[in-house]
Amino acid sequence: MASDASAEERILGGLDPEQRVVATTLQGPVCVRAGAGTGKTRAITHRIAWGIASGVYTPQKTLALTFTARAANEMRQRLRQLGAPGVQARTFHSAALRQLQYFWPQAVGGPPPGLVNHKARLLTEAAQSMRLTTDRATVRDVAGEIEWAKVSMLTPDTYAAAAEKRSMPMGYDVRTMQRLYQSYEDLKADRHLIDFEDVLLITVGILEEDERIAAAVHAQYRQFVVDEYQDVSPLQQRLLDAWLGQRDDVCVVGDASQTIYSFTGATSRHLLEFPSRHPNARVVELIRDYRSTPQVVNTANQLLAARRPAAGSTPGTWATPLQLISQRPAGPEPSWNEYPDDEAEAAGVATRIQDLIDDGVPAREIAVLFRTNGQSQAFEAALADANIGFQLRGTERFFNRPEIRQALVQIRSAAKTLGDEPVRVPQQVRDMLSSLGYSARAPRSDSATRARWESLSALVSLADSMAHRAAEEDEEFTLQEFSDELERRAKAQEAPVMDGVTLASMHSAKGLEWDAVFLAGLSEGLMPISFADTADGVDEERRLLYVGITRAREHLVLSWSLSRTPGGRPTRSRSRFLDAILPAAASNVAQRHVRTRR
Ligand code: ATP
Ligand code: MG
Repeated sequence: MASDASAEERILGGLDPEQRVVATTLQGPVCVRAGAGTGKTRAITHRIAWGIASGVYTPQKTLALTFTARAANEMRQRLRQLGAPGVQARTFHSAALRQLQYFWPQAVGGPPPGLVNHKARLLTEAAQSMRLTTDRATVRDVAGEIEWAKVSMLTPDTYAAAAEKRSMPMGYDVRTMQRLYQSYEDLKADRHLIDFEDVLLITVGILEEDERIAAAVHAQYRQFVVDEYQDVSPLQQRLLDAWLGQRDDVCVVGDASQTIYSFTGATSRHLLEFPSRHPNARVVELIRDYRSTPQVVNTANQLLAARRPAAGSTPGTWATPLQLISQRPAGPEPSWNEYPDDEAEAAGVATRIQDLIDDGVPAREIAVLFRTNGQSQAFEAALADANIGFQLRGTERFFNRPEIRQALVQIRSAAKTLGDEPVRVPQQVRDMLSSLGYSARAPRSDSATRARWESLSALVSLADSMAHRAAEEDEEFTLQEFSDELERRAKAQEAPVMDGVTLASMHSAKGLEWDAVFLAGLSEGLMPISFADTADGVDEERRLLYVGITRAREHLVLSWSLSRTPGGRPTRSRSRFLDAILPAAASNVAQRHVRTRR
């Protein structure tokens, strides 16, 4: 595509001067360090589109790396809208997996290994072989520890020395943990399996050792862009270095105040040290927040301003917080509620959500975010009770859901039978899906049935919108086309838009935004989470809350409950982080309330 005035206006017109610098500095290292909602993701998306429109980039040779499949999906869609289709937007993992599958015959030979989806089974076996008794929580912690070791590029041999100061799962000694790690690795090798981290480790190994393969990959990708760079692990950084080779055409963007994956080995060090690693880097700071109202931005600023590097915290991890400046008109003040128990909190949140929907806020523009996935259930039940649609934790696994797999099989076989015969596809789809639990009206029933209905209903809406578009263009729309589109989307993990309130963990919400955000369960023990017992750990929890707050465009509602179960003892107290952000008078009221209940 030739660069012309209209492309320039379309792609660069909507950027402020600093974002424009990012989007037009097409070569050499670029580093954007900026706060939430300042347009980092927007700037890099437009940068790629501009690189392609001006003929500097080749779409197939550009690789955009993002943190989740969902973010990758969103970036592809935005690029398509900007007239830049064909760019690879992937997670580190999926990009590595693809290369590994492609180069396996040449680099290793023989049948490709199977993938371990969950470590739990193998770990339980490893523990049994060592005569250790384990429960689910321990196995999960051991898996976490092994993942940390692997992304930190520690082998069982080098692990023990590096892990001496770490607290071990179940209070194991380091030697035991080391033997568990070794035994797990042996089991995997015996069965010709590799796990999530191996995909990256092996790819790095191949690229570093095999010059021919490295050369092929270097010829394939010329431009790299990395979003959410503050959460890159040493292993991902090594992979990025291997992809780059001797070149430095890489643009990274991130916000050190949003580092929330340190527990998995991620570190903002790479972001903070990027300019010293690349002395010729163009460094850009963005401080205008386009996402949120001044009320939301002030709340976020206050939370960060109250940070104090505590004794025992790791030097260098306390990036000076950026003070954001909202570009939006004023909105409502953040509000908060204290509830006697979790059930009351979920019901209260559902009521407030209904009010917002009645006021015209679309359900898909509302999210309830919590610290642990276990908190989701109460909200699923309360929303189902209130007959409000919802979707769980993003949509990346949409095509893995059993009802969607069944639906795809049915649609595919019906499409084959019908050939290109013109039928009323939306009606056809409705009829077919009704055997799987679809009905014209949402069922008023338990949350699992409701969730199933929501996902089938998303397929129906997709059929409707494709039929609508075809009609506008005066084109036929066949079941075969619908089936092909679903296949394409399933392959790209491109879930259709679901109309429902999002229920998600704060971790999985990063990079996303909604008109209204409910942050629930803000009590000590949940936020900060009980196992965050070091200064660094508590600070990471604060950053996580910061990520949560900065997801809101306009409405921000904070809540917590004093007891887990109705009628239970009110043993909880509200999160210490709220001291910095709730007006003093109100916090006194809440505190007094807590005291009188005790
Ligand atoms: P996060 O740190 O949460 O990932 P971000 O820095 O990546 O945030 P974006 O998601 O790119 O921010 O942008 C936040 C919102 O502000 C988006 O809705 C985006 O479209 C909008 N936005 C960004 N820059 C501009 C601009 N120059 N003009 C208008 N809207 C903008
Ligand atoms: Mg972003």
